[in-house]
Amino acid sequence: MRIPKVPQAIFALVLLVCVAPTALFGQGQSTAKPRPRVIVIGVNGMEMDVIRPLILQGKMPNLAGIIKKGTYGKLRTVSAPNCPRVYSTLFTSTRPEEHGVSGFIVGGITANTNMLKEEPIWSILSKNSITVGMANVPATFPVMPVNGYMISGMLTRGKNCEDGVLCAPKLSEVQGGEAVYPPALKAELIKNVGNFYIDCERMPSAEELKDHEPEVIEAWLKKVDVIRAQQTQLFDYLLNTHPTDFTWLAQSCEDRTGHWLYPIAPYNAGYNPKINAVRTDAFPNQYIGFDGVLGSILKHVDDKTYVFIVSDHGIKPLREFEQTDPHAHMDHEKTTPVIAKHDFADGDDVPGSFFAMGPGIKQGLRLMGLEVSVYDLAPTILHLYGIDPSKQMRGRVLSEIFENSDGKVAQK
Ligand SMILES: [Zn+2]
Repeated sequence: MRIPKVPQAIFALVLLVCVAPTALFGQGQSTAKPRPRVIVIGVNGMEMDVIRPLILQGKMPNLAGIIKKGTYGKLRTVSAPNCPRVYSTLFTSTRPEEHGVSGFIVGGITANTNMLKEEPIWSILSKNSITVGMANVPATFPVMPVNGYMISGMLTRGKNCEDGVLCAPKLSEVQGGEAVYPPALKAELIKNVGNFYIDCERMPSAEELKDHEPEVIEAWLKKVDVIRAQQTQLFDYLLNTHPTDFTWLAQSCEDRTGHWLYPIAPYNAGYNPKINAVRTDAFPNQYIGFDGVLGSILKHVDDKTYVFIVSDHGIKPLREFEQTDPHAHMDHEKTTPVIAKHDFADGDDVPGSFFAMGPGIKQGLRLMGLEVSVYDLAPTILHLYGIDPSKQMRGRVLSEIFENSDGKVAQK
């Protein structure tokens, strides 16, 4: 289904007519049958090559626990994967050329939700009276009305982040659209969580780094720690005070760090000891940090809750012969000396990852062979709620991850 030209207005009307206002935050639900609770945690550019040794060293106990209790494996992504391109595919289960968000910049304009030409999962769930909560999910700016709340993530525009690309405006400094739905939630968040940064810190430019490498790297990593601590607090507050049937939270500092601080060897393209020998622990530490965020989220998870951890792509050191363009060694804004990337023409070079646990999900199953793709998340989640995938969706229900392999899911 194509989204009408004024989806926000129409959907807001539908909400007013069909959903009691008290249901906006998931309270006052009057349905007789309890609905499954699903939490999706998005990690931008989670790289299994880096995670596996950390798990073996016991440094990611929370993720290790999910692997033990559930199903995991590589997640096939799209070609030339980047965050908005893949997230919009996860939202809609359609190809980038179909949903319209083909990259960071589309037709000269920073990607935004008004460009989405296919219906996203938050809209389908909301129409089916499922309560929805989303926070820091990339490519959700400006936010759209849902049967719950939405706080935008990567690509939010604001002060010091006018183009919205890979930078971090504070919640009070957002410009050019709303970052919070419903609007009243914004003041509540500032009061109870603080004036947090949306998205991760902008990477320093080559000029900023020159002759000040150690100081700039340390300062940048400190800011990343601050942002992660704020996000942890935000998620904890939302899960405590605004529980929803379906919740989608996301992290993006891991990928950002990997682009320029991936621990590479001197023979890798772009190696510069002045930068790359300073903090070889910086990138692995992001995942140890993520595991801490995961632990905080898992406090809100009982054995009836489904948890999906999904990465839109991996990230690898520069490696392609096709990249003769000197800008290929720079970041999206072509200023940071990057040493790793993910928008390789062949997306199979940088698969994402997929972890699932919950009632009826197989324990100890490892998915191999790239048979699970970013198209499959939305149909699988809809299936948990008894909603058939929309006609335009290209993915399938991942029936192989469920104990009863006829594809029917254990009902609560
Ligand atoms: Zn990236």
